[in-house]
Amino acid sequence: MFDNLSDKLDKAFHILKGHGKITEVNVAETLKEVRRALLDADVNFKIAKDFTNTVKEKALGQEVLTSLQPGQLMIKIVKDQLIELMGGEAAGINLSGNPSVILMSGLQGSGKTTFSGKLANFLKTKKNKKPLLVACDVYRPAAINQLHVVGEQLGIEVYSEEGNKNPVEIAQKAIKHAKANGFNAVIVDTAGRLAVDEEMMNEIANIHKAIQPQETLFVVDSMTGQDAVNTAKAFNDRLNFDGVILTKLDGDTRGGAAISIKSVVNKPIKFIGTGEKMDAIDIFYPDRMADRILG
Ligand code: GDP
Repeated sequence: MFDNLSDKLDKAFHILKGHGKITEVNVAETLKEVRRALLDADVNFKIAKDFTNTVKEKALGQEVLTSLQPGQLMIKIVKDQLIELMGGEAAGINLSGNPSVILMSGLQGSGKTTFSGKLANFLKTKKNKKPLLVACDVYRPAAINQLHVVGEQLGIEVYSEEGNKNPVEIAQKAIKHAKANGFNAVIVDTAGRLAVDEEMMNEIANIHKAIQPQETLFVVDSMTGQDAVNTAKAFNDRLNFDGVILTKLDGDTRGGAAISIKSVVNKPIKFIGTGEKMDAIDIFYPDRMADRILG
């Protein structure tokens, strides 16, 4: 995860490491490499530019040039700025409702169904909840089956209605079912398409309006490039979602587009998916991720 970005940032800091004393030229060279590393990792252009400008101001403000360990100080400044870029503090998930209703959104293939299962399992095993999974993809029977397979594997009930083509109704009935049967968390998996389209957006916006979830989560495949940012914007415009889930961070991902999402839509990354198995879910901690990126 972020291996390429890590390598390139490491190389950028090499410029400073050999020197006991450094010059403004060394700082400028380093920052040029940092910017290149961010762009290569698919970080949005404006974000990369703002990032290096801020680092430069801080570096000169903190007297990197006269510091005894200029390389270390630069790394610390870059790290703090990366933490900031990725959201600062870890953001929790709102489980206040009874049941807490969580709506999953995102494109087809982003990992919504897999993540719904992972989250249900997380709530069951780590938060002592009794979750209900709801299959609202009325277009793809395979998607409903997939959720049932996941539910069976986890020992978690899945609500679906064969033949009902109205996802709003299914979601509402599922919540009623949850209330009547003591489920205190409801995770609603919805239909995604391969690209943003009006029909999908209307449908999920209608579900959102009807069930008023405590949490609306946007799931994005971290392997997708700059499109991830545009997709996030489109979903956020309609849903004003609460958090982002980055999936497939275990893959050979450049990841930068995904970390740009935080700045573009100003919503925190809440969880990451790191594999196909149901326990491959982690709370997203910006500081730990920055540590990982900077090695
Ligand atoms: P959906 O269409 O959004 O519901 O996406 P799925 O949950 O069906 O996931 C699409 C594919 O991505 C499946 O083959 C999943 O096994 C895989 N997948 C989902 N999350 C992850 C992850 O974190 N890591 C990896 N490597 N694969 C994942």
